[in-house]
Amino acid sequence: MSKAPAGHAGPDLSRYPGGEALYRVRHSAAHVLATAVTELFPEVKVAGGPPIDSGFYYDFAREKPFTPEDLARIEARMREIIAAGQPFVYSEVSRADAEKRFKAAGETYKLHFLSQIPADGTISFYTNGPFVDLCRGPHVQSTADIKAFKLTHVAGAYWLGSERNEMLQRIYGTAFPTQADLDAYLHQIEESLKRDHRKVGRELELYSIHEEVGQGLILWHPKGGMLRHLIEGFWKDEHLKRGYQFVYTPHLSSEKLFEISGHLENYADLMYSPMDIDGKPYRIKPMNCPGHIMIYNSTKHSYRDLPLRYAELGTVYRYERSGVLHGMERVRGFTQDDSHIFCTREQLADEVAGVLDLMDFLLRAFRYEYHCYLATRPATKFLGSEEEWEFATAALRAALERRGLAYEVDEGGGAFYAPKIDVKLKDALGREWQCPTIQVDLMLPKRFGVMYVGSDGKEHEVVMLHRALLGSLERFVGIYIEHTGGEFPVWLAPVQVKVIPANPKANDYAQDTARMLELAGVRVEVDLRDEKMGAKIRNAELEKVPYMLIVGPREAEAGTVSPRRKGKGQLEAMTRQAFIEMVGRDVHARQ
Ligand SMILES: [Zn+2]
Ligand SMILES: [Zn+2]
Repeated sequence: MSKAPAGHAGPDLSRYPGGEALYRVRHSAAHVLATAVTELFPEVKVAGGPPIDSGFYYDFAREKPFTPEDLARIEARMREIIAAGQPFVYSEVSRADAEKRFKAAGETYKLHFLSQIPADGTISFYTNGPFVDLCRGPHVQSTADIKAFKLTHVAGAYWLGSERNEMLQRIYGTAFPTQADLDAYLHQIEESLKRDHRKVGRELELYSIHEEVGQGLILWHPKGGMLRHLIEGFWKDEHLKRGYQFVYTPHLSSEKLFEISGHLENYADLMYSPMDIDGKPYRIKPMNCPGHIMIYNSTKHSYRDLPLRYAELGTVYRYERSGVLHGMERVRGFTQDDSHIFCTREQLADEVAGVLDLMDFLLRAFRYEYHCYLATRPATKFLGSEEEWEFATAALRAALERRGLAYEVDEGGGAFYAPKIDVKLKDALGREWQCPTIQVDLMLPKRFGVMYVGSDGKEHEVVMLHRALLGSLERFVGIYIEHTGGEFPVWLAPVQVKVIPANPKANDYAQDTARMLELAGVRVEVDLRDEKMGAKIRNAELEKVPYMLIVGPREAEAGTVSPRRKGKGQLEAMTRQAFIEMVGRDVHARQ
């Protein structure tokens, strides 16, 4: 097969999300877009436009920017072209003919793509109506096969992706097999914009990021802090029940530690520069593992001590390029829900199964579905022996199978020092997020000489498991904000109840009610501002507080409350004690 021109980089259609049929539709829609633009704006020069995961685009050179009105006109013209059912016609041409054609039209970008086709390559055109494109396809039969599309936006794009080149205008669109599919997709986009954790995080006053503090560094505000505290408490309680022990390790350590661990050798570019302390280099930690190992190695261990499960909500710092930082989801400082398990070979599969069990428990509490991937030995660059890899991978596989978890094998996807189970959460919008990871380390036990004395009285190397189940609190909370849209369940809501007096005469009763709830451990705020009741209700709705208690003289008289549950409406009047019990049941059921 000939090499594709750069404008239509040779796609691996089997890997295209939605498959080849959708690829054809979107590629064809891109041509229809170029057809409409060149008809409506004859001065425009066309560059290229491939399908992308979310739809398609086409790049155009034009002095004036395309306006939203222009997009509407282009879209209307595209609909006419689709209605006309123009066939997509394939033809092969000589290089000389292709050159002549693009030179005459002043299409310099196409001339560039043409020059990229090797001397022995096939040069092909696809023609629909008046539009001819240098293209190797594939396309649908005719424009009428494009059943549902929409232009979404325009953005600047440098020619060939280089800042040294001129800026082109990239018109984005998307296309689907049916209108229902398109509608569902557009709805999802709209929902994900509404739920964007940076927007919701600001509205609910959960966190902020400041230039003065530094990029990628999160400040947790009181409400975000409460959310984090609740997640941490839940996490800690569950770990204690499952035989974990908490440890704490310093944020800063001598560079020597990272020399031994191999971090300086293998991860230097994600570590921050050394600082001088008493003439010796120190580093801020990028990982918690070396500290946990030092704790283990502080004493001799026998097989009877194992397994040992050390856990730490350990804050680490890693360099990320500023361009990839994204709210809480991609940061430079983060707290991992980290743990290292030291065990014998015989215990490994049981330990992994235990970790999967705990993971399942945690993810269910946050109402996530998830999917597991078993990542195996990389083909070339890997540490340890093939036997060790086989043993560790088999233990991971056995644990997955024992738990009856469906999983896919990610062949060669392991880290160079460890086979692992990676787990992707599926959020309320159907998007996948890789969070939990469980790895069998084949490097650090050797580098640190992590041993135990076996029943045979001899020293053996420990098997070491790394695992983070939420990933990091920053990223997990960012994703959780988008999963819930900020509508946290009662057990995690920073404020569970807002008491709103119906008029100033009910202020005392409102405060008394709030105190009573507080003493019962309910997180409550009372709104005594000099505002209309309607404004206070709207405010509590914007804050997404699960329960509102509007109390007036009638409730004060009867010693009752009439709760409003967010999303469920008005509930029956009840005593305050009955309300406290109801909130308690919600918390217990994690609703
Ligand atoms: Zn094409
Ligand atoms: Zn680790």
